Amino acid sequence: MLKTDHIEIQCPECGHTEFEQPDNVQDDDFVKCNQCKFEVMLCDLKEAGIEQAKKVVIPEAKKEIEKMLKNALKGFK
Ligand SMILES: [Zn+2]
Repeated sequence: MLKTDHIEIQCPECGHTEFEQPDNVQDDDFVKCNQCKFEVMLCDLKEAGIEQAKKVVIPEAKKEIEKMLKNALKGFK
């Protein structure tokens, strides 16, 4: 199946996936990249994560659909 649970949000600057964040971080709090110290608001980071997830998930979804189509077409030979 599609693995959507394990996608980590990457730092928009360096691609690192760990961020310093305050306890009970809110959407308008800043989180800081552990590697390059780039600061980004959590809501912006989430949006970047959604875009990143789309790029990963769509090619995987296409593969799954192609597999399904191939299997479906086998029945017609
Ligand atoms: Zn970074």
